[in-house]
Amino acid sequence: MQTISDRVMSLASSQTLAMSQKSAELKAQGIDVINLSVGEPDFNTPKHIKEAAVRAIDDNFSFYSPVPGYMSLRKAIAEKLSHENGLSFEPSQIVVGNGAKHALCNVIMATVNPGDEVIIPTPAWVSYIEMVKLAEGKAVLVPAGLDTDFKITPAQLEAAITDRTRAIILCSPSNPTGSVYSIDELKAIVDVLEGHPQVLVIADEIYEHIIYGDLKFTSLASFPAIADRTVVINGVSKAYAMTGWRIGYCACPKEVAAAVTKLQGQFTSGASSIAQKAAEAAYTGSQECVEEMRKAFERRRNLVVRLAREIPGFKVNEPNGAFYLFPEVSAYFGKSAGAYTITDSAALAMYLLEVANVATVDGAAFCAPGYIRLSYATSDENLEEAFRRIKKALAQLS
Ligand code: PMP
Ligand code: GLU
Repeated sequence: MQTISDRVMSLASSQTLAMSQKSAELKAQGIDVINLSVGEPDFNTPKHIKEAAVRAIDDNFSFYSPVPGYMSLRKAIAEKLSHENGLSFEPSQIVVGNGAKHALCNVIMATVNPGDEVIIPTPAWVSYIEMVKLAEGKAVLVPAGLDTDFKITPAQLEAAITDRTRAIILCSPSNPTGSVYSIDELKAIVDVLEGHPQVLVIADEIYEHIIYGDLKFTSLASFPAIADRTVVINGVSKAYAMTGWRIGYCACPKEVAAAVTKLQGQFTSGASSIAQKAAEAAYTGSQECVEEMRKAFERRRNLVVRLAREIPGFKVNEPNGAFYLFPEVSAYFGKSAGAYTITDSAALAMYLLEVANVATVDGAAFCAPGYIRLSYATSDENLEEAFRRIKKALAQLS
């Protein structure tokens, strides 16, 4: 038996990916599982993006790319940040990595020292805390519940900041809750951060285009008071249905970009040359596909909110972005059916998987026990059938 490092032994496995894997295994056994666990668009990558990748292969983009990414892609990203978000990043401040997950991990590894505190509002995406742990930092969790639409208040943030606070990671639209901070709410957060110039602001904006109703997306980096210490994390996975292509980026203060590039040069080198050319086509080509997918997600959001509200005991907010629903499910705790007793949200997620054959994710994976996460990035038919099954399985509990 090999000894595994303490670093990895203390790391939690990604529950979103684990649940998705479990549902794939059940499917392989012939069980008809509806997978609402992993969050990824169910659409195919748009044709003009795929064609750019084919062209890149034909044009021999087969050599190592520059560590921070092709200059043409970094320029395209800088232009996108300028015209879509009103931000002024130089291409040299942008480092392309293997997905937003990698870009985020790079930034944390490049800026957090052992013992540094990183503020993470919860519910939070599964990987933030583990990345901070890897850097030997201390995750400081600031909880928000259904009563505040899962958003933290400025007072909570002020109370969480100490002399050791190195960074805050803010995700809006949020995974796992779908909540979106309004411009006024962001401004109130920025007002607090303005008083603490040592805090690096890490804005995970991967769901920026998946936003509903009249809400307009505002980048945290667009507030002058914190612009020079804000890192924007984004990528092509969600907006362009390109999860498997693995292209994301960080747009950072110059010295952070240089540190991330140094790290990436020793760890992974430049991201896939072909995927980078595809991402360039995504940013420079027509944006109609983004709007088409957004519309489909909005229709599904309306559908799942309606279906979830018909389920006794589910308490749901109305998510204004991303493609997740995050119902509070504690009404079922203590109930049983056959061999199953629902002790907590983990038991409920397992019950739904095994009895309803619907894969969800336990809220505890996002530091929010008592909730479950459902991804509605799947067809309307799948969603209707999934909710029919969930309702039936839950009705058996008493
Ligand atoms: N941040 C959040 C909040 C996410 O949900 C995801 C999706 N897994 C990522 C970052 C990473 O996305 P990717 O690595 O696919 O670009
Ligand atoms: N962001 C997606 C999710 O939360 C993808 C899986 C992952 O990378 O965690 O389900």
